[in-house]
Amino acid sequence: MIDTHIHADSRSSEDFEMMYLSGIDSAVTCSFYPYKLYNETVLLNHLERILEYDTTRAKKYGINLKVALGIHPSNTEINPQLIYNNMYQWIENNKIIAIGEIGLENLTENEINIFKKQLEIGEQTKTPVIIHTPRKNKFKVFQKIIDIVPGYIDPNLVVIDHINGDIVKEAIDSECMLGLTVQPGKMTKEEAICILDQYGFDRFLLNSDISNMPSDCLSVPKTVRELKKEGYDERKIEKVAFKNARNFFKI
Ligand SMILES: [Zn+2]
Repeated sequence: MIDTHIHADSRSSEDFEMMYLSGIDSAVTCSFYPYKLYNETVLLNHLERILEYDTTRAKKYGINLKVALGIHPSNTEINPQLIYNNMYQWIENNKIIAIGEIGLENLTENEINIFKKQLEIGEQTKTPVIIHTPRKNKFKVFQKIIDIVPGYIDPNLVVIDHINGDIVKEAIDSECMLGLTVQPGKMTKEEAICILDQYGFDRFLLNSDISNMPSDCLSVPKTVRELKKEGYDERKIEKVAFKNARNFFKI
């Protein structure tokens, strides 16, 4: 199984061990700095820690940790140029498999500019991007994202994450991949299964988004096992368990 969106830097080694024992082989860890950012060097330290330290830490427990780096919408109060420069190098040296998570939260001009620039880098380098949608004002922010995306990047390179019942109808009409985040307070495994049942298994990725907030590191295996228990076709289950992610991220 592949958990397509986690924050490994804020989780314990015990979580990695549990995930591996529950059938997760790979995970995609995304950047998000949950504390005050004094400047862009602090963010760069955070990103390099993920790249150099957390990948090694997860590997000890059997998890093949793939890395997505970028400027999260909550981390945009910095001068972004240093991060852009490094981003090109990480992509060129195959250090990262995606740009992310990026996106919009409060729709400030600064957020929107940084979001657009990162989409441009994704398009220029043909790198997948992981786009976050917020809990607050989800529909409005999602609409802004979907307005911006096609002008800056091929939507086939994009996954829009944290899809729920409020936006799935509109999201399915885009050409983007769609992420379902099964997490306490966000979405239950039953809700995720209901969306898969209604919209099909081809366009969805599953993830836990484990972070420093309440999370369940086993939410992907629990959802996959529930699909199995309910008797869904094995080939459909394989798509959301790992095949869609493997094809999209080329891992
Ligand atoms: Zn996240």
